[in-house]
Amino acid sequence: MRGRLPLLLALGMALAVTPAFAQERATADRPDASDLYQVHVIYAVPSDGKDRKLDTDGSIQRSLATANRWFQEESGRKLRFDTTKDGALDISFLKLARTEAELKGFRAFIRDEIEKDVNAAGFRHARKIYLVYYDGAHVNTCGSSGWPPKNKGNTAVLFLLTEFEKAPPCHSHKFEEATPRFWEFAAVHEILHTLGFVPECAKNRSQHSHVNDDKADILYGESRPPGRRRLDPGNDDYFRHGIPGCLDLENSAFLDPANPGAQPPPEWQVGKTCTYTGYGKRTCE
Ligand SMILES: [Zn+2]
Repeated sequence: MRGRLPLLLALGMALAVTPAFAQERATADRPDASDLYQVHVIYAVPSDGKDRKLDTDGSIQRSLATANRWFQEESGRKLRFDTTKDGALDISFLKLARTEAELKGFRAFIRDEIEKDVNAAGFRHARKIYLVYYDGAHVNTCGSSGWPPKNKGNTAVLFLLTEFEKAPPCHSHKFEEATPRFWEFAAVHEILHTLGFVPECAKNRSQHSHVNDDKADILYGESRPPGRRRLDPGNDDYFRHGIPGCLDLENSAFLDPANPGAQPPPEWQVGKTCTYTGYGKRTCE
């Protein structure tokens, strides 16, 4: 008998701290826990890519939980992710039909091609955007997204394997569980672009969809220094900015909880399901 109780206790504790996530692979969106606006997560592998099973080993689930904790600390709300009825993050697996080299040939438009494939595979919904962890390389970035209304799109892509001449490769960064770092901030950064931020009316907007006033801003352009990011410090560009008629993250329908009268991204066709085909194009019905 001796030693048995401590073992059971240790086992119980280990089970208690293991976060819930769906361990079975799913190739389609599972039944939703909510019909509100939400971010659906996909782990995608090119046809010749190595399947690291990031959808089922808990890596992405833990990283996004960390990212969302940061978001809540900054904003007082969460980003609403697609979860199953028992509260686990719903991550889909998508094996792409094209090779990494074929996709890489599209250079600045790799994201557009992946968006096309994601939507063609059935991932399109009147109230969802998609965050894709792509286990392949881009030519020059670890993340890319649309930016409505200028560049319509419903799919943000994180490129896990991009390499650079003068900077550490994307895969040198780990998914974090305690302190948000590279991938956690990258996920929020690309989600915010897909929701239309920063808007053209933002005071310190630069480089299309970024700001240039504070290097710690999660939407700062150019290379961002290491360290903790902030959500619109000074509240002068895209969150609680008080600029009349200017898109504000505070009123995004993707926040949990959302404000009364919260809005989907600019130029979304409410109630219609759109199929995005990259390059800012879509058809809605
Ligand atoms: Zn950006």
